[in-house]
Amino acid sequence: MRPNQSDMQTISALFLDRDGTIIHDSPDSITSLDQVRLIERADDALSLAKQDGFKLIMISNQGGIAKGIVTKARVDEINTLMQSMLAPKGATLDALYYAPSHPSYPDADCDALKRWRKPDTGMVEQAISDFAAQGLTIDLTRSFFIGDKQIDVECGLRAGLRAILVKTGYGEAEKCQEKNTLPEFIASDLYEAVAYILNRASEP
Ligand SMILES: [Mg+2]
Repeated sequence: MRPNQSDMQTISALFLDRDGTIIHDSPDSITSLDQVRLIERADDALSLAKQDGFKLIMISNQGGIAKGIVTKARVDEINTLMQSMLAPKGATLDALYYAPSHPSYPDADCDALKRWRKPDTGMVEQAISDFAAQGLTIDLTRSFFIGDKQIDVECGLRAGLRAILVKTGYGEAEKCQEKNTLPEFIASDLYEAVAYILNRASEP
């Protein structure tokens, strides 16, 4: 049951891409547990953001599911392993969303969540709705989307969030220019992105 409006609490959130942002990406996409390696200082960054009150929400395209190169069960195992790597610093994510579809690989089950695939905003909207059901309103103007690809920046901007590009992973700064989807900041990595947010979050 949805809480009364008066019981709602307003929070800030970081919407986070996974591959190339929190963990190292792989050219063939991440399909096995031995590929899971945290990007340097990602755990410290997420710990700092969490201590500052941000909810941490993963928003990840996993089109490999529709392609048949990774199962949903394996994606869940990979996410669980990542969470266990973040845990020692108290940096585990609060919610995890991934989009299973791929436009070139039609699949009825995966395509039911077609609107989740970035740059579409279905996952962000689902997260906002799920947090609202817990009595938490996400303040978009104080919330950020952080990712390494142009689609991450575009998804964040389309959802009304502030967008930051990280140069780890694909670091698609040029593509952001080409598509005229410009992040407000380009950070060398997630740690620098969070440092920027914590210094500047009150000055949009
Ligand atoms: Mg990525």
